[in-house]
Amino acid sequence: CRNMSEGKNIFEKIIDREIPASFLHEDEESVVFKDINPQAPVHFLVVPKKCYPKLEVMDDPGLIGRLMMVANKVAKEQGLVKGYRVVINNGDEGGQEVPHLHIHVLGGKQLKWPPC
Ligand code: 5GP
Repeated sequence: CRNMSEGKNIFEKIIDREIPASFLHEDEESVVFKDINPQAPVHFLVVPKKCYPKLEVMDDPGLIGRLMMVANKVAKEQGLVKGYRVVINNGDEGGQEVPHLHIHVLGGKQLKWPPC
């Protein structure tokens, strides 16, 4: 994370418009853009502008709540009226690839459980 002097990660470059993305929402503290490798007919990411590499270092529970509200707002705008799934992949065994905390929103078909 840039705020940890480790350089920008890919999501920070998207936030700074250094690489393109298909944006669905932006406010003071978050952005939402489509996942480049969608795992469902609708798949987007809710990303805080401030970089937290993982949940263990998240110190703002209010932000997490607001991101969830943004997730729901954009889900409805994207037509997910019959439901959707929210996922946080956290850490290596959680399958996290980008070290910048983010919420996946997936929907647009009947999702199965368990996912793996
Ligand atoms: P993670 O496994 O870290 O929870 O998920 C990272 C997600 O970011 C993946 O679903 C991946 O497809 C997506 N992703 C990685 N790089 C890019 C990118 O450059 N642009 C967009 N739009 N999504 C990306």
